[in-house]
Amino acid sequence: MSADRLEELIALMARLPGLGPRSARRAVLHLIKKRGQLMAPLAQALAEVAASARDCVVCGNVGTQDRCEICADPRRATGEICVVEDVADLWAMERAGVFKGRYHVLGGTLSALDAVGPEDLRIPQLIARLGEEEVTEVILALGATLDGQTTGHYIADEIAAAGVAVSSLAQGVPVGGELDYLDDGTITAALKARKRL
Ligand SMILES: [Zn+2]
Repeated sequence: MSADRLEELIALMARLPGLGPRSARRAVLHLIKKRGQLMAPLAQALAEVAASARDCVVCGNVGTQDRCEICADPRRATGEICVVEDVADLWAMERAGVFKGRYHVLGGTLSALDAVGPEDLRIPQLIARLGEEEVTEVILALGATLDGQTTGHYIADEIAAAGVAVSSLAQGVPVGGELDYLDDGTITAALKARKRL
């Protein structure tokens, strides 16, 4: 193995969230030391997931089928759709285990600064779902940031026109991109105390 390949691996690892060049180097060294127990199974798992991972055609969650496990589960057809910015937020909601409906992943927030418009997010797909599914309530679980709130207001206006109830997770808790950092009890409380818009 050439030193170049090793450096390439370290450079790739350093692009992972939370890993800088120093920790990437340490992680690679650890993997090489544990190549039998850790590196080989990790490489195999990465290859398998890379080959099969796809975005759910309905909600934008990641999985290994066209429809993710949540969308494919008939017990989750409660009429409630929880709108989140990112898959990490969906996973945080699932970890709390309190929401029994389905999701819609936007893939970001509207941003005038970064020129992100509704068509750049999965907002048209959300509106389309209102006509295709028996939706009774859309719950916005978006960030407390300016862009998150702007996105929420935009979606609420669009949905109100479709005659579907809209609510938002309780204010006062940092939601959206930070859902992942909340404990399960806080997420549960924010969902239960959601407000009708
Ligand atoms: Zn899905």
